[in-house]
Amino acid sequence: MPARKLPRVVRSSSELLATQRARAAQGQILGLVPTMGALHDGHTALIEEARHRADHLVVSIFVNPLQFDRKGDLRAYPRTFEGDLERCAVAGVDTVFAPTVDDMYPDGFDTRLVAGELGRDFEGAGRPGHFDGVLTVCLKLFVLSQAHFAVFGEKDFQQLCLIRRLVRDLGLPLEIVPVPVLRDTDGLALSSRNVHLGKKLRERALCLYQALCTAQDLAADGERNAGRIQRAAQAVLDAAPSFRTSYCAVVDPSSLQPLDLLVPGQLARLLIAGHIGARPGVRLLDNGPLFVGRT
Ligand code: AMP
Repeated sequence: MPARKLPRVVRSSSELLATQRARAAQGQILGLVPTMGALHDGHTALIEEARHRADHLVVSIFVNPLQFDRKGDLRAYPRTFEGDLERCAVAGVDTVFAPTVDDMYPDGFDTRLVAGELGRDFEGAGRPGHFDGVLTVCLKLFVLSQAHFAVFGEKDFQQLCLIRRLVRDLGLPLEIVPVPVLRDTDGLALSSRNVHLGKKLRERALCLYQALCTAQDLAADGERNAGRIQRAAQAVLDAAPSFRTSYCAVVDPSSLQPLDLLVPGQLARLLIAGHIGARPGVRLLDNGPLFVGRT
């Protein structure tokens, strides 16, 4: 990567808030990309989307303990701060906000946002408190960064829906900008957790993309029965050794309610998640739109 000026690293919430307030007062457009670090090209796609919209771009790097229901998962989460800084420098990030846990959640911190119906199923079903933690940290990041907009990936599709709902429900004065799933050349959705996949598991992990493609092809060929599409995708996942499906569902992309029928002109999405490898395994997520072709 070519060398560039490193972004300014801010560790304290109060410093971030003060500097961002001053920038906003000068009329600058402030952008935010929230991340947990271990940055890859998927994050870079979000940063690039934010870069051309913002006068001042903040990337937050914070492995948020509130959103982990298993301590082991939190401990094992990859941390690559120096490399992340380099990547942010190349992508033209102005400020990296990397607070400590104590700074974000000082002694006595006792408040949580609670995700509603949208957070009940899918990731919410298997990970109690996960979305409460996501919403709580994001609201705090929105306030501290004073952002006019924040960029989120469709990779975490339910999270994106919940964040949009948070903004709408609480009337938060910022825009949420979505970015499509960025994939490796073979189709595997990029994820910080992919570093935990050895060569064999990485090959097997392609079953998520293959299941998605199967569903998309069926829909494009005119299949409108969501159950049949879901079962065809599930069969691909079932055939992959050591993959354990958490869910594979055809849903309305706004309400996340299951669909029975795909209707031309109406949006539909396939959501997939599961674990691969020896238990507890590596958690993998994927999703994509289903476009109905004419029969
Ligand atoms: P994370 O660091 O995993 O919490 O992700 C930070 C942001 O990057 C979230 O909005 C994710 O949805 C997004 N993201 C992660 N991987 C990808 C990807 N492969 N394509 C697009 N966005 C992604």
